[in-house]
Amino acid sequence: MKNTRYRSIIIYIVVCFFFAGIGFFLFEFITNSRQWAFSPVNRHLSEGNMSGGKILDTNNIILAQTLDGKRIYNEKEDIRKAMLHAVGDGSVLIPTSVQSRYNSELFGYNPVIGFGAPHVFDINQNIKLTLDSEICARVSKNFKDKKGAALAYNYLTGEVLCMVSLPTYDVNSRPTLDENIKDKYEGMYINRAISSSFTPGSIFKIFTTAAALDLIPDVEKRTFECKKVKIIDGEKVACMSSHGKINLKDAMSKSCDIVFSDIAIELGKEKMKSKMEEYGLNAPEYFDGMQVISSSYDVNDASKAELGWSGIGQSKDKVSPLYMLKVMGAIANKGIHVEPFIVKSVFTDSSGEYHNNSKNLSKRMFSETTAESLKEIMRYTMKNQYKDSMFGGIQMCAKTGTAEVGEDKLPHGWMVGFSYDKTFPVAFSVIVENGDFGIKSAGPIAADMIKEFHSAFKAGKYEKK
Ligand SMILES: [Zn+2]
Repeated sequence: MKNTRYRSIIIYIVVCFFFAGIGFFLFEFITNSRQWAFSPVNRHLSEGNMSGGKILDTNNIILAQTLDGKRIYNEKEDIRKAMLHAVGDGSVLIPTSVQSRYNSELFGYNPVIGFGAPHVFDINQNIKLTLDSEICARVSKNFKDKKGAALAYNYLTGEVLCMVSLPTYDVNSRPTLDENIKDKYEGMYINRAISSSFTPGSIFKIFTTAAALDLIPDVEKRTFECKKVKIIDGEKVACMSSHGKINLKDAMSKSCDIVFSDIAIELGKEKMKSKMEEYGLNAPEYFDGMQVISSSYDVNDASKAELGWSGIGQSKDKVSPLYMLKVMGAIANKGIHVEPFIVKSVFTDSSGEYHNNSKNLSKRMFSETTAESLKEIMRYTMKNQYKDSMFGGIQMCAKTGTAEVGEDKLPHGWMVGFSYDKTFPVAFSVIVENGDFGIKSAGPIAADMIKEFHSAFKAGKYEKK
């Protein structure tokens, strides 16, 4: 009797484990089968002769489609290269691309049917992007052989109109491993617009100005002084020239280093850090639901002079082109940015109906009064320093940056800004790595891009789409 009881208990336990195992498997299968199917080790399943949905740009130009079981990209090489990081190349090498992230929508995996469901099931979905591929191609070409990134978006709706990253390559002839290790293609799988952060240089003065506006009463009425060089505890902070007595808005337009170094030192580490974090530095950054690189501000171990350098975008400061785009959107929008997105809609051939899947995670970065003051200071900088003729007379607000990155290398050139006129609600962020002065390197790329979008807006190109 005793033996029998023990045996039945053991059988019960075994049976319990058996059903628990099946339950666990079913749970995993239901929740994870998509990821299994699309995981790199099972790539042979998803890259075979299966059909896939189309990827379109904002003007319905086909960027990728499947014809006779083969993935075909746009017929123009310029467009293929410019759209590489947004669209992807069909491999797992660009994980931030739409083809990697929306593969179950595009390639129609279903846990019951698996891949390759008959076309009548209408499982493959198409994706329409917000990007203008023709303007992206033009912007990408303007980088010539330089590396960097350019972004532009509608700061009222969040639609990203341009997103390019350099270096890039043609999806129809991916560089070989030998070519890949050469400097020319270094980091070619990385979408620098969202996945890289860089030393900001003088574009960071926007944040130091914001902190000054928030914390120093009547700072706009104050007179500062720049004597070109300042020695702080034996360390040097130097300006491009001797600006003499100068107010805040002229310090911004002439990009005086001494004034912004002085402001950072006056506010001190604690206040600078807490203000920078309020503006979104040191926080997780997201784009279209995926986590991307954060921008950072770290003065924990900084000397007094280094704290000064942190106020002018040097030291350990790092910002991403995407974050700078959001900051421009926030200043243009009374302190709250509209979250940028690139997927306009996901739809099937038969539904014909577009579903906008944009997620608006708008957040306040600056107080309304600080944003309004920053806008006016950046408008003043544009008018007095760069001149409206640079953008063909379009009223813009902007700031350039030239970020020192080491003795033997040319500095990174930046230009960030936005339109002052809300009937043309576009903000931009451009960086040219080792491009030299921002006004010379990023400036012409930004100006050409903005003029193109201005013509497109005036022609009503993005309406009713
Ligand atoms: Zn100065």
